[in-house]
Amino acid sequence: MSIRFKLILSYIAMLIIPIILTILVGAVSLLFYFGEPDEGINRKYGIGLIRSSVMERDNIFSDIKGKILKSPEKFQDEDYLKTLEEKLTKASSGIIIRRDDKIIYSSKGFEGFNQGKSLPEFGSYIQDMVLPNGEEKRGFVLSQHDFYFKDSSNGSVFLITNLNPIKSAYIKTRITLSIFIVIILVLTNGLLTYIVARSIVNPLERLKSSANRIKEGDLDFKVKADTKDEIGELCSTFEEMRARLKESLETQLQYEKNRRELVSNISHDLKTPITAIKGYVEGIRDGVADNPEKLKRYIDTIHSKTEDVDRLINELFLYSKLDLNKFPFNYSIINIKSYLLDLTDEIRFDLREKNIELNYKEDIEGNIVVSADSQQLKRVFMNIVDNGVKYMDKEHGAIDIFARDKGDIIEVEIRDNGQGIPDKSLEFIFDRFYRADESRNTLIGGSGLGLSIARKIIEEHGGTMWAESEEGTGTSIFFTLKKYKSGEKL
Ligand code: ADP
Repeated sequence: MSIRFKLILSYIAMLIIPIILTILVGAVSLLFYFGEPDEGINRKYGIGLIRSSVMERDNIFSDIKGKILKSPEKFQDEDYLKTLEEKLTKASSGIIIRRDDKIIYSSKGFEGFNQGKSLPEFGSYIQDMVLPNGEEKRGFVLSQHDFYFKDSSNGSVFLITNLNPIKSAYIKTRITLSIFIVIILVLTNGLLTYIVARSIVNPLERLKSSANRIKEGDLDFKVKADTKDEIGELCSTFEEMRARLKESLETQLQYEKNRRELVSNISHDLKTPITAIKGYVEGIRDGVADNPEKLKRYIDTIHSKTEDVDRLINELFLYSKLDLNKFPFNYSIINIKSYLLDLTDEIRFDLREKNIELNYKEDIEGNIVVSADSQQLKRVFMNIVDNGVKYMDKEHGAIDIFARDKGDIIEVEIRDNGQGIPDKSLEFIFDRFYRADESRNTLIGGSGLGLSIARKIIEEHGGTMWAESEEGTGTSIFFTLKKYKSGEKL
Protein backbone atom coordinates (compact mmCIF):
# COMPACT_ATOMS: atom_id res chain seq x y z
CA MET A 1 0.00 0.00 0.00
CA SER A 2 1.45 3.36 -0.97
CA ILE A 3 2.14 5.99 1.71
CA ARG A 4 -0.22 8.39 -0.06
CA PHE A 5 -3.01 5.79 0.12
CA LYS A 6 -2.13 5.01 3.74
CA LEU A 7 -2.40 8.70 4.65
CA ILE A 8 -5.72 9.10 2.84
CA LEU A 9 -7.02 5.98 4.58
CA SER A 10 -5.87 7.17 7.97
CA TYR A 11 -7.52 10.58 7.45
CA ILE A 12 -10.76 8.85 6.47
CA ALA A 13 -10.44 6.59 9.51
CA MET A 14 -9.77 9.64 11.71
CA LEU A 15 -13.07 11.02 10.50
CA ILE A 16 -15.20 7.90 10.45
CA ILE A 17 -14.06 6.13 13.61
CA PRO A 18 -14.94 9.05 15.94
CA ILE A 19 -18.31 9.45 14.20
CA ILE A 20 -19.13 5.76 14.61
CA LEU A 21 -17.92 5.68 18.21
CA THR A 22 -19.82 8.86 19.03
CA ILE A 23 -23.02 7.41 17.60
CA LEU A 24 -22.38 4.29 19.65
CA VAL A 25 -21.74 6.23 22.85
CA GLY A 26 -24.75 8.43 22.15
CA ALA A 27 -26.95 5.39 21.60
CA VAL A 28 -25.79 3.82 24.86
CA SER A 29 -26.39 7.08 26.74
CA LEU A 30 -29.83 7.51 25.24
CA LEU A 31 -30.64 3.95 26.11
CA PHE A 32 -29.46 4.70 29.59
CA TYR A 33 -31.98 7.49 29.93
CA PHE A 34 -34.80 6.39 27.65
CA GLY A 35 -34.44 2.61 27.57
CA GLU A 36 -37.11 0.15 28.71
CA PRO A 37 -36.77 0.44 32.49
CA ASP A 38 -38.54 -2.77 33.45
CA GLU A 39 -36.35 -5.20 31.63
CA GLY A 40 -34.20 -7.09 34.16
CA ILE A 41 -30.68 -5.96 33.36
CA ASN A 42 -31.83 -2.44 32.45
CA ARG A 43 -33.41 -1.95 35.84
CA LYS A 44 -30.26 -3.20 37.52
CA TYR A 45 -28.06 -0.65 35.74
CA GLY A 46 -30.57 2.22 35.88
CA ILE A 47 -31.26 2.16 32.14
CA GLY A 48 -34.36 4.16 31.25
CA LEU A 49 -34.03 6.74 34.02
CA ILE A 50 -36.09 9.43 32.23
CA ARG A 51 -38.61 7.00 30.89
CA SER A 52 -39.18 5.52 34.31
CA SER A 53 -39.84 8.93 35.89
CA VAL A 54 -42.25 9.87 33.08
CA MET A 55 -44.03 6.52 33.42
CA GLU A 56 -44.14 6.86 37.18
CA ARG A 57 -45.74 10.28 36.80
CA ASP A 58 -48.33 9.01 34.30
CA ASN A 59 -49.19 6.12 36.62
CA ILE A 60 -49.65 8.38 39.58
CA PHE A 61 -51.85 10.76 37.62
CA SER A 62 -54.14 8.00 36.30
CA ASP A 63 -54.30 6.54 39.81
CA ILE A 64 -55.39 9.95 41.13
CA LYS A 65 -57.97 10.30 38.39
CA GLY A 66 -59.30 6.80 39.16
CA LYS A 67 -59.59 7.53 42.87
CA ILE A 68 -61.38 10.83 42.20
CA LEU A 69 -63.86 9.07 39.96
CA LYS A 70 -64.73 6.64 42.78
CA SER A 71 -64.61 8.98 45.73
CA PRO A 72 -63.38 12.60 45.55
CA GLU A 73 -63.51 12.68 49.35
CA LYS A 74 -60.49 10.36 49.38
CA PHE A 75 -58.36 13.50 49.00
CA GLN A 76 -59.27 14.50 52.49
CA ASP A 77 -58.18 11.11 53.80
CA GLU A 78 -54.79 11.61 55.45
CA ASP A 79 -53.72 7.97 55.23
CA TYR A 80 -54.31 7.86 51.52
CA LEU A 81 -52.47 11.14 51.03
CA LYS A 82 -49.51 9.82 53.00
CA THR A 83 -49.07 6.75 50.77
CA LEU A 84 -49.62 8.93 47.72
CA GLU A 85 -46.92 11.34 48.92
CA GLU A 86 -44.37 8.51 49.06
CA LYS A 87 -45.00 7.68 45.42
CA LEU A 88 -44.94 11.36 44.45
CA THR A 89 -41.58 11.96 46.08
CA LYS A 90 -40.08 9.09 44.11
CA ALA A 91 -41.29 10.71 40.89
CA SER A 92 -40.00 14.18 41.98
CA SER A 93 -43.64 15.33 41.98
CA GLY A 94 -46.21 16.86 44.25
CA ILE A 95 -49.96 17.60 44.18
CA ILE A 96 -52.08 20.57 45.06
CA ILE A 97 -55.83 20.09 45.65
CA ARG A 98 -58.17 23.02 45.36
CA ARG A 99 -61.80 23.16 46.52
CA ASP A 100 -63.48 26.13 44.90
CA ASP A 101 -60.83 28.83 45.41
CA LYS A 102 -59.30 27.31 48.46
CA ILE A 103 -56.21 25.14 48.54
CA ILE A 104 -57.13 22.22 50.75
CA TYR A 105 -53.97 20.18 50.27
CA SER A 106 -50.46 20.87 49.06
CA SER A 107 -47.51 18.48 48.94
CA LYS A 108 -44.52 19.56 50.93
CA GLY A 109 -42.37 21.97 48.97
CA PHE A 110 -45.11 22.71 46.40
CA GLU A 111 -47.03 25.27 48.47
CA GLY A 112 -45.51 28.20 46.57
CA PHE A 113 -47.15 27.18 43.27
CA ASN A 114 -50.41 28.92 44.13
CA GLN A 115 -48.89 32.18 45.23
CA GLY A 116 -50.95 34.99 43.87
CA LYS A 117 -53.48 32.40 42.76
CA SER A 118 -51.37 31.59 39.76
CA LEU A 119 -52.81 28.09 39.28
CA PRO A 120 -55.15 27.73 36.28
CA GLU A 121 -58.84 28.17 36.87
CA PHE A 122 -61.40 25.32 37.25
CA GLY A 123 -62.26 23.93 33.81
CA SER A 124 -58.88 24.80 32.18
CA TYR A 125 -57.94 21.15 31.53
CA ILE A 126 -54.25 21.74 31.51
CA GLN A 127 -52.09 18.83 30.40
CA ASP A 128 -48.33 18.88 30.94
CA MET A 129 -47.91 22.66 31.01
CA VAL A 130 -44.40 23.87 31.51
CA LEU A 131 -44.20 26.52 34.18
CA PRO A 132 -41.74 29.15 33.12
CA ASN A 133 -42.71 31.95 35.49
CA GLY A 134 -40.79 32.59 38.65
CA GLU A 135 -37.27 31.47 39.46
CA GLU A 136 -38.35 28.68 41.76
CA LYS A 137 -40.83 27.26 39.18
CA ARG A 138 -38.35 26.90 36.36
CA GLY A 139 -38.19 23.38 35.04
CA PHE A 140 -41.53 22.27 36.53
CA VAL A 141 -44.45 20.80 34.60
CA LEU A 142 -48.08 20.98 35.62
CA SER A 143 -51.14 18.83 34.80
CA GLN A 144 -54.64 19.62 35.95
CA HIS A 145 -57.68 17.41 36.56
CA ASP A 146 -61.04 18.90 37.58
CA PHE A 147 -63.84 17.14 39.46
CA TYR A 148 -66.79 17.82 41.78
CA PHE A 149 -66.91 17.08 45.47
CA LYS A 150 -70.03 15.37 46.82
CA ASP A 151 -71.43 18.76 47.79
CA SER A 152 -70.97 19.87 44.15
CA SER A 153 -68.15 22.22 44.99
CA ASN A 154 -65.46 22.56 42.27
CA GLY A 155 -62.42 20.49 42.81
CA SER A 156 -59.09 20.57 40.94
CA VAL A 157 -56.05 18.39 41.47
CA PHE A 158 -52.73 19.68 40.11
CA LEU A 159 -49.86 17.31 39.59
CA ILE A 160 -46.62 19.23 39.47
CA THR A 161 -43.40 17.45 38.52
CA ASN A 162 -39.91 18.73 38.93
CA LEU A 163 -38.11 18.10 35.64
CA ASN A 164 -34.83 19.51 36.89
CA PRO A 165 -33.32 16.11 37.82
CA ILE A 166 -34.07 14.92 34.26
CA LYS A 167 -32.66 18.13 32.89
CA SER A 168 -29.47 17.73 34.85
CA ALA A 169 -29.35 14.11 33.67
CA TYR A 170 -29.54 15.49 30.13
CA ILE A 171 -26.72 17.89 30.83
CA LYS A 172 -24.72 15.10 32.40
CA THR A 173 -25.29 12.99 29.28
CA ARG A 174 -24.15 15.83 27.09
CA ILE A 175 -21.00 16.40 29.12
CA THR A 176 -20.24 12.69 29.26
CA LEU A 177 -20.76 12.46 25.51
CA SER A 178 -18.50 15.46 24.86
CA ILE A 179 -15.77 13.99 27.07
CA PHE A 180 -16.12 10.67 25.27
CA ILE A 181 -15.92 12.35 21.89
CA VAL A 182 -12.78 14.25 22.88
CA ILE A 183 -11.19 11.09 24.32
CA ILE A 184 -12.15 9.08 21.24
CA LEU A 185 -10.80 11.81 18.94
CA VAL A 186 -7.52 12.02 20.83
CA LEU A 187 -7.20 8.23 20.99
CA THR A 188 -8.04 7.49 17.35
CA ASN A 189 -5.98 10.38 16.01
CA GLY A 190 -3.08 9.50 18.27
CA LEU A 191 -3.25 5.81 17.43
CA LEU A 192 -3.60 6.32 13.69
CA THR A 193 -0.83 8.91 13.62
CA TYR A 194 1.36 6.50 15.58
CA ILE A 195 0.61 3.58 13.23
CA VAL A 196 1.18 5.60 10.06
CA ALA A 197 4.29 7.28 11.45
CA ARG A 198 5.66 3.94 12.59
CA SER A 199 5.16 2.43 9.14
CA ILE A 200 7.12 5.34 7.67
CA VAL A 201 9.69 6.05 10.33
CA ASN A 202 10.74 2.45 11.11
CA PRO A 203 11.76 1.53 7.55
CA LEU A 204 13.49 4.90 7.24
CA GLU A 205 15.44 4.16 10.41
CA ARG A 206 16.45 0.79 8.98
CA LEU A 207 17.47 2.45 5.74
CA LYS A 208 19.54 4.94 7.68
CA SER A 209 21.37 2.21 9.56
CA SER A 210 21.95 0.36 6.26
CA ALA A 211 23.41 3.54 4.76
CA ASN A 212 25.66 3.87 7.79
CA ARG A 213 26.86 0.27 7.36
CA ILE A 214 27.68 0.95 3.73
CA LYS A 215 29.47 4.13 4.78
CA GLU A 216 31.60 2.00 7.12
CA GLY A 217 32.40 -0.27 4.15
CA ASP A 218 30.20 -3.21 5.18
CA LEU A 219 28.41 -4.54 2.11
CA ASP A 220 27.69 -8.09 3.30
CA PHE A 221 24.04 -7.70 4.25
CA LYS A 222 20.69 -7.34 2.57
CA VAL A 223 18.41 -4.31 2.77
CA LYS A 224 15.00 -5.90 3.20
CA ALA A 225 11.94 -4.25 1.70
CA ASP A 226 9.14 -5.25 4.08
CA THR A 227 6.52 -2.88 2.73
CA LYS A 228 5.13 -2.41 -0.74
CA ASP A 229 4.96 1.37 -0.55
CA GLU A 230 7.31 4.10 -1.73
CA ILE A 231 9.74 3.32 1.12
CA GLY A 232 9.67 -0.36 0.11
CA GLU A 233 10.62 0.73 -3.40
CA LEU A 234 13.35 2.93 -1.96
CA CYS A 235 14.64 -0.08 0.03
CA SER A 236 14.69 -2.22 -3.16
CA THR A 237 16.59 0.47 -5.05
CA PHE A 238 18.95 0.80 -2.12
CA GLU A 239 19.45 -2.97 -2.08
CA GLU A 240 20.16 -2.90 -5.80
CA MET A 241 22.69 -0.14 -5.24
CA ARG A 242 24.36 -2.12 -2.44
CA ALA A 243 24.51 -5.26 -4.61
CA ARG A 244 26.00 -3.33 -7.53
CA LEU A 245 28.49 -1.62 -5.28
CA LYS A 246 29.50 -4.98 -3.88
CA GLU A 247 29.76 -6.44 -7.36
CA SER A 248 31.89 -3.59 -8.63
CA LEU A 249 34.10 -3.80 -5.54
CA GLU A 250 34.52 -7.52 -6.08
CA THR A 251 35.29 -6.96 -9.77
CA GLN A 252 37.82 -4.35 -8.77
CA LEU A 253 39.40 -6.76 -6.30
CA GLN A 254 39.38 -9.46 -8.95
CA TYR A 255 41.06 -7.09 -11.42
CA GLU A 256 43.64 -6.25 -8.84
CA LYS A 257 44.24 -9.96 -8.19
CA ASN A 258 44.44 -10.65 -11.93
CA ARG A 259 46.90 -7.83 -12.40
CA ARG A 260 49.11 -9.19 -9.64
CA GLU A 261 48.87 -12.67 -11.11
CA LEU A 262 49.66 -11.30 -14.53
CA VAL A 263 52.80 -9.58 -13.31
CA SER A 264 53.88 -12.67 -11.42
CA ASN A 265 53.16 -14.98 -14.40
CA ILE A 266 55.02 -12.74 -16.84
CA SER A 267 57.98 -12.50 -14.44
CA HIS A 268 57.99 -16.27 -14.01
CA ASP A 269 57.65 -17.05 -17.70
CA LEU A 270 60.34 -14.57 -18.68
CA LYS A 271 62.67 -15.48 -15.85
CA THR A 272 62.83 -19.22 -16.68
CA PRO A 273 64.37 -18.91 -20.18
CA ILE A 274 66.46 -15.92 -19.17
CA THR A 275 67.97 -17.85 -16.20
CA ALA A 276 68.82 -20.64 -18.66
CA ILE A 277 70.35 -18.17 -21.15
CA LYS A 278 72.36 -16.58 -18.33
CA GLY A 279 73.60 -19.99 -17.20
CA TYR A 280 74.72 -21.01 -20.68
CA VAL A 281 76.38 -17.63 -21.34
CA GLU A 282 78.27 -17.90 -18.03
CA GLY A 283 79.26 -21.46 -18.98
CA ILE A 284 80.75 -20.17 -22.23
CA ARG A 285 82.48 -17.27 -20.45
CA ASP A 286 83.96 -19.55 -17.80
CA GLY A 287 85.21 -21.93 -20.48
CA VAL A 288 82.88 -24.81 -19.58
CA ALA A 289 82.09 -25.21 -23.29
CA ASP A 290 85.62 -26.23 -23.99
CA ASN A 291 85.12 -27.91 -27.34
CA PRO A 292 83.35 -26.76 -30.55
CA GLU A 293 80.46 -29.29 -30.21
CA LYS A 294 79.67 -28.23 -26.65
CA LEU A 295 79.91 -24.61 -27.68
CA LYS A 296 77.47 -25.21 -30.56
CA ARG A 297 75.05 -27.00 -28.23
CA TYR A 298 75.25 -24.12 -25.75
CA ILE A 299 74.68 -21.54 -28.45
CA ASP A 300 71.76 -23.56 -29.95
CA THR A 301 70.11 -23.73 -26.52
CA ILE A 302 70.63 -20.03 -26.00
CA HIS A 303 69.05 -19.43 -29.41
CA SER A 304 66.02 -21.60 -28.67
CA LYS A 305 65.51 -19.96 -25.26
CA THR A 306 65.78 -16.54 -26.87
CA GLU A 307 63.07 -17.62 -29.31
CA ASP A 308 60.89 -18.70 -26.39
CA VAL A 309 61.28 -15.25 -24.84
CA ASP A 310 60.65 -13.60 -28.20
CA ARG A 311 57.50 -15.69 -28.77
CA LEU A 312 56.23 -14.97 -25.28
CA ILE A 313 56.81 -11.25 -25.68
CA ASN A 314 55.07 -11.29 -29.06
CA GLU A 315 52.07 -13.14 -27.62
CA LEU A 316 51.93 -10.77 -24.67
CA PHE A 317 52.09 -7.84 -26.99
CA LEU A 318 49.32 -9.25 -29.16
CA TYR A 319 47.19 -10.13 -26.15
CA SER A 320 47.52 -6.68 -24.60
CA LYS A 321 46.61 -5.03 -27.93
CA LEU A 322 43.54 -7.28 -28.23
CA ASP A 323 42.69 -6.61 -24.59
CA LEU A 324 42.85 -2.86 -25.13
CA ASN A 325 40.89 -3.20 -28.41
CA LYS A 326 43.83 -1.65 -30.20
CA PHE A 327 44.59 -4.47 -32.55
CA PRO A 328 44.20 -3.39 -36.20
CA PHE A 329 42.01 -6.07 -37.79
CA ASN A 330 42.04 -6.26 -41.51
CA TYR A 331 38.58 -7.53 -42.49
CA SER A 332 37.71 -8.84 -45.90
CA ILE A 333 35.00 -11.02 -47.41
CA ILE A 334 36.15 -14.63 -47.39
CA ASN A 335 34.57 -17.62 -49.04
CA ILE A 336 34.65 -19.89 -46.03
CA LYS A 337 34.54 -23.14 -47.98
CA SER A 338 37.64 -22.47 -50.07
CA TYR A 339 39.40 -20.73 -47.19
CA LEU A 340 39.00 -23.78 -44.93
CA LEU A 341 39.99 -26.15 -47.69
CA ASP A 342 43.25 -24.24 -48.34
CA LEU A 343 43.99 -23.79 -44.65
CA THR A 344 43.42 -27.43 -43.72
CA ASP A 345 45.63 -28.52 -46.64
CA GLU A 346 48.40 -26.32 -45.28
CA ILE A 347 47.97 -27.58 -41.73
CA ARG A 348 47.79 -31.19 -42.92
CA PHE A 349 51.15 -30.72 -44.58
CA ASP A 350 52.73 -29.38 -41.36
CA LEU A 351 51.20 -32.12 -39.22
CA ARG A 352 52.41 -34.94 -41.41
CA GLU A 353 55.96 -34.22 -40.16
CA LYS A 354 54.71 -34.66 -36.61
CA ASN A 355 53.00 -37.91 -37.49
CA ILE A 356 49.54 -36.52 -36.78
CA GLU A 357 46.73 -37.07 -39.21
CA LEU A 358 44.34 -34.26 -40.10
CA ASN A 359 40.81 -34.88 -41.37
CA TYR A 360 38.51 -32.16 -42.61
CA LYS A 361 34.76 -32.46 -43.14
CA GLU A 362 32.14 -29.83 -43.92
CA ASP A 363 28.46 -29.60 -44.74
CA ILE A 364 28.43 -26.08 -46.13
CA GLU A 365 26.40 -25.71 -49.27
CA GLY A 366 26.81 -22.90 -51.75
CA ASN A 367 29.07 -19.90 -51.64
CA ILE A 368 28.93 -18.91 -48.02
CA VAL A 369 31.00 -15.87 -47.15
CA VAL A 370 32.16 -14.42 -43.85
CA SER A 371 33.74 -11.12 -42.98
CA ALA A 372 37.06 -11.93 -41.32
CA ASP A 373 40.71 -11.08 -40.94
CA SER A 374 42.16 -14.13 -42.70
CA GLN A 375 45.54 -13.82 -40.95
CA GLN A 376 44.01 -13.68 -37.48
CA LEU A 377 41.54 -16.46 -38.31
CA LYS A 378 44.51 -18.56 -39.29
CA ARG A 379 46.14 -17.69 -35.95
CA VAL A 380 43.01 -19.03 -34.21
CA PHE A 381 43.26 -22.33 -36.10
CA MET A 382 47.01 -22.53 -35.48
CA ASN A 383 46.73 -21.88 -31.73
CA ILE A 384 44.09 -24.59 -31.36
CA VAL A 385 45.87 -27.09 -33.61
CA ASP A 386 49.19 -26.34 -31.81
CA ASN A 387 47.52 -27.30 -28.54
CA GLY A 388 46.26 -30.49 -30.16
CA VAL A 389 49.86 -31.28 -31.06
CA LYS A 390 51.34 -30.14 -27.73
CA TYR A 391 48.96 -32.17 -25.63
CA MET A 392 48.92 -35.25 -27.86
CA ASP A 393 49.69 -38.44 -25.92
CA LYS A 394 48.55 -41.07 -28.44
CA GLU A 395 50.72 -42.94 -30.84
CA HIS A 396 48.29 -42.34 -33.69
CA GLY A 397 47.49 -38.72 -33.22
CA ALA A 398 44.53 -37.32 -35.13
CA ILE A 399 43.03 -33.88 -35.44
CA ASP A 400 39.57 -33.63 -37.03
CA ILE A 401 38.17 -30.36 -38.25
CA PHE A 402 34.41 -30.04 -38.90
CA ALA A 403 32.69 -27.04 -40.41
CA ARG A 404 28.90 -27.03 -40.02
CA ASP A 405 26.31 -24.75 -41.49
CA LYS A 406 24.01 -23.66 -38.65
CA GLY A 407 21.73 -21.12 -40.29
CA ASP A 408 23.15 -17.68 -39.64
CA ILE A 409 26.46 -19.01 -38.44
CA ILE A 410 29.19 -21.45 -39.37
CA GLU A 411 30.28 -23.64 -36.46
CA VAL A 412 33.81 -24.98 -36.52
CA GLU A 413 34.96 -27.86 -34.32
CA ILE A 414 38.62 -28.80 -33.95
CA ARG A 415 38.82 -32.16 -32.24
CA ASP A 416 41.94 -33.99 -31.10
CA ASN A 417 42.46 -37.40 -29.55
CA GLY A 418 45.04 -36.11 -27.07
CA GLN A 419 45.25 -36.20 -23.28
CA GLY A 420 42.08 -34.21 -22.70
CA ILE A 421 41.43 -31.60 -20.03
CA PRO A 422 40.27 -32.33 -16.46
CA ASP A 423 36.71 -31.12 -15.75
CA LYS A 424 37.87 -28.72 -13.05
CA SER A 425 40.16 -26.95 -15.54
CA LEU A 426 37.82 -26.82 -18.51
CA GLU A 427 36.12 -23.57 -17.57
CA PHE A 428 39.43 -21.75 -17.12
CA ILE A 429 41.36 -22.70 -20.25
CA PHE A 430 40.34 -19.47 -22.02
CA ASP A 431 41.67 -17.34 -19.14
CA ARG A 432 44.94 -15.62 -19.86
CA PHE A 433 48.01 -17.46 -18.50
CA TYR A 434 45.89 -20.39 -17.42
CA ARG A 435 47.47 -23.78 -17.73
CA ALA A 436 45.86 -26.99 -16.64
CA ASP A 437 49.32 -28.09 -15.55
CA GLU A 438 49.70 -25.91 -12.46
CA SER A 439 53.46 -26.42 -12.16
CA ARG A 440 53.80 -24.12 -15.19
CA ASN A 441 56.00 -26.70 -16.82
CA THR A 442 57.73 -24.97 -19.68
CA LEU A 443 58.90 -28.18 -21.28
CA ILE A 444 55.79 -28.20 -23.47
CA GLY A 445 56.37 -24.54 -24.13
CA GLY A 446 52.91 -23.11 -23.49
CA SER A 447 52.43 -19.56 -22.30
CA GLY A 448 48.80 -19.94 -21.32
CA LEU A 449 47.88 -17.19 -23.78
CA GLY A 450 47.09 -19.26 -26.91
CA LEU A 451 43.39 -19.91 -26.23
CA SER A 452 42.70 -16.51 -24.67
CA ILE A 453 44.11 -14.85 -27.79
CA ALA A 454 42.05 -17.19 -30.02
CA ARG A 455 38.85 -16.45 -28.09
CA LYS A 456 39.45 -12.69 -28.20
CA ILE A 457 39.95 -12.82 -31.98
CA ILE A 458 36.73 -14.84 -32.44
CA GLU A 459 34.81 -12.48 -30.18
CA GLU A 460 36.11 -9.55 -32.22
CA HIS A 461 34.59 -11.33 -35.23
CA GLY A 462 31.23 -11.50 -33.44
CA GLY A 463 31.48 -15.21 -32.64
CA THR A 464 31.82 -17.37 -29.52
CA MET A 465 34.29 -20.06 -28.48
CA TRP A 466 33.92 -22.95 -26.05
CA ALA A 467 35.41 -26.34 -25.28
CA GLU A 468 34.35 -29.89 -24.54
CA SER A 469 36.79 -32.46 -23.33
CA GLU A 470 37.17 -35.87 -21.80
CA GLU A 471 40.32 -36.67 -19.93
CA GLY A 472 42.29 -39.40 -21.68
CA THR A 473 40.09 -39.28 -24.81
CA GLY A 474 40.54 -35.86 -26.34
CA THR A 475 39.39 -32.28 -26.62
CA SER A 476 37.05 -30.38 -28.93
CA ILE A 477 37.33 -26.64 -29.31
CA PHE A 478 34.32 -25.03 -30.97
CA PHE A 479 33.91 -21.55 -32.38
CA THR A 480 31.38 -19.76 -34.54
CA LEU A 481 31.60 -17.25 -37.36
CA LYS A 482 28.74 -15.10 -38.52
CA LYS A 483 27.73 -15.44 -42.15
CA TYR A 484 28.18 -12.23 -44.06
CA LYS A 485 24.98 -10.68 -45.44
CA SER A 486 25.39 -8.31 -48.37
CA GLY A 487 25.24 -4.67 -47.37
CA GLU A 488 26.60 -5.35 -43.86
CA LYS A 489 29.61 -3.47 -42.54
CA LEU A 490 32.82 -5.44 -42.92
P1 ADP B 1 49.20 -22.98 -23.58
O1 ADP B 1 50.06 -22.07 -24.29
O2 ADP B 1 49.62 -23.33 -22.19
O3 ADP B 1 48.79 -24.14 -24.39
P2 ADP B 1 46.49 -22.19 -23.99
O4 ADP B 1 45.77 -20.93 -23.63
O5 ADP B 1 46.57 -22.52 -25.41
O6 ADP B 1 47.89 -22.11 -23.31
O7 ADP B 1 45.78 -23.37 -23.23
C1 ADP B 1 45.53 -23.28 -21.85
C2 ADP B 1 45.62 -24.61 -21.20
O8 ADP B 1 44.56 -25.45 -21.63
C3 ADP B 1 46.85 -25.39 -21.56
O9 ADP B 1 47.93 -25.08 -20.71
C4 ADP B 1 46.41 -26.82 -21.39
O10 ADP B 1 46.53 -27.23 -20.06
C5 ADP B 1 44.91 -26.79 -21.73
N1 ADP B 1 44.68 -27.21 -23.12
C6 ADP B 1 44.39 -26.42 -24.16
N2 ADP B 1 44.16 -27.12 -25.28
C7 ADP B 1 44.31 -28.43 -24.95
C8 ADP B 1 44.21 -29.66 -25.64
N3 ADP B 1 43.91 -29.70 -26.95
N4 ADP B 1 44.43 -30.80 -24.96
C9 ADP B 1 44.71 -30.78 -23.64
N5 ADP B 1 44.82 -29.65 -22.92
C10 ADP B 1 44.64 -28.49 -23.57
